[in-house]
Amino acid sequence: MRTVHHWINGAAVAGTGTRKLPVFDPATGEQQAEIVAATAAEVRTAVETALGVFPSWRAASLSRRAEVMFRFRELVDANRKEIASLLSSEHGKTVADAGGEVARGLENVEFACGAPHLLKGGYSEQASTGVDVYSIRQPLGVVAGITPFNFPAMVPMWMFCNALVAGNTFVLKPSEKDPSVSLLLADLLRQAGLPDGAFNVVQGDREAVEAILADPDIQAVSFVGSTPVAKHIYETGTRAGKRVQALGGAKNHMVVLPDADVNSAADAAVSAGYGSAGERCMAISVVVAVGAVADPLVDAIRERIGRIRTGPASDPDAEMGPLISREHRDKVAGYLASPGAAEVVVDGRQSDVSNQPGFFLAPSLVDKVPTDSPLYTDEIFGPVLSVTRVDTYAEALELVNDNPYGNGTAIFTRDGGVARQFQYDVVCGMVGVNVPVPVPVAYYSFGGWKASLFGDLHMYGPDGLAFYTRTKVVTSRWPDPATSEVDLGFPKVR
Ligand code: NAD
Repeated sequence: MRTVHHWINGAAVAGTGTRKLPVFDPATGEQQAEIVAATAAEVRTAVETALGVFPSWRAASLSRRAEVMFRFRELVDANRKEIASLLSSEHGKTVADAGGEVARGLENVEFACGAPHLLKGGYSEQASTGVDVYSIRQPLGVVAGITPFNFPAMVPMWMFCNALVAGNTFVLKPSEKDPSVSLLLADLLRQAGLPDGAFNVVQGDREAVEAILADPDIQAVSFVGSTPVAKHIYETGTRAGKRVQALGGAKNHMVVLPDADVNSAADAAVSAGYGSAGERCMAISVVVAVGAVADPLVDAIRERIGRIRTGPASDPDAEMGPLISREHRDKVAGYLASPGAAEVVVDGRQSDVSNQPGFFLAPSLVDKVPTDSPLYTDEIFGPVLSVTRVDTYAEALELVNDNPYGNGTAIFTRDGGVARQFQYDVVCGMVGVNVPVPVPVAYYSFGGWKASLFGDLHMYGPDGLAFYTRTKVVTSRWPDPATSEVDLGFPKVR
């Protein structure tokens, strides 16, 4: 059995723990590898390694740090296919979808290449007579990232590019379900010239996470995963005095107004509902059909579902792959028998593909889902799309705003005025206007509101650099010593 190692001090290191966790091939349902879950002592070794190299990496010039990112960019670009096929072999998403993940990760590398400009501080000459005031940004030290299974390359890149280029050193705890790509990224960072020890990976689960949260030398933690764990990470980490950003789950609503183009809205709902088998935190999970658009929209979605090809990533024509695990597939399928699932328009369980080996579940569509159904209240994280019908825009808005999550939402309409009103009114971190998956480009920042994010700063982009640096403000003067005198008054500027 292949073992996926840790990465410490610039090299793969075998685990010494006793707990082995399986890594499956979701397309066959067979175990293909294992990790040896990191112990607290191994996490500590990674932290000490990162701590040791921090002073020299911090002292490296901005141009030098940016140069490493430029080289890393070239290496990721040159190895796109290898990265994509490795992550898809453990995650199950199609290779084309995995390629999209790598491309969106690459955007974050490119953003970090601009760090010399982005980390510039401010300078106020003559803030008082002969006194200048300026601000500088300094790295925090050792920072950690804890990432989910659904984007095993992109989400770590959301974090470590900005953290490293700002002069921090990094410990990554990837998802135990698809751990291998983290080692490929670590090796590409090494090839790019990152000093050994500046980027470390510990494979593991909750035990490793708790060790990260308890470690006094970790200054900040970035987390992406489900809401209950995000809340736990935020509460535990901040109680220990760490800076924490913890992104959680989602229940993304797509509001379709009566004037929307039905075919475009159906294309968008199907793409955003079933892409990556619905295992995206920005997946559309509920279509809110307003008024008379409901019947033609449901028909158009049903018709498109019939044409989706579900299959393994090795099938070049497959558009949707399996789910991450057998348990998760069974849980998602269970929603089709839950209260409120009276109008199952397409039942993926009946498809032949759902009975193949592997963790497959074909796309499903449920209409007229009431808001007290688990189909509506739970984050399903699978290829089950619900349609909830309302009569007015105001009712649709209320549904989105009443939802405990606030990650993404979208509105489909031809009316610019209503779209603008929606953008103004909606209580949600990321909004799409005729865009179903409004993941911001890397020079903005990514983050939801409400139970979708615990913390203040969003991830990547300008917020990312702010998260991984602290600001120091210097007040400076160079007076003629002959003018010096004692003055017990509080310093005034005028
Ligand atoms: P998860 O919460 O189960 O796991 C995330 C990470 O936390 C993993 O590294 C895992 O090992 C660790 N972990 C799991 N349980 C833990 C526990 N009890 N204590 C400490 N650590 C624990 O999430 P997942 O299943 O890997 O990913 C899917 C979830 O992530 C979905 O809820 C999805 O919406 C969310 N997600 C959110 C975003 C976002 O940007 N908001 C992006 C991607 C995924």
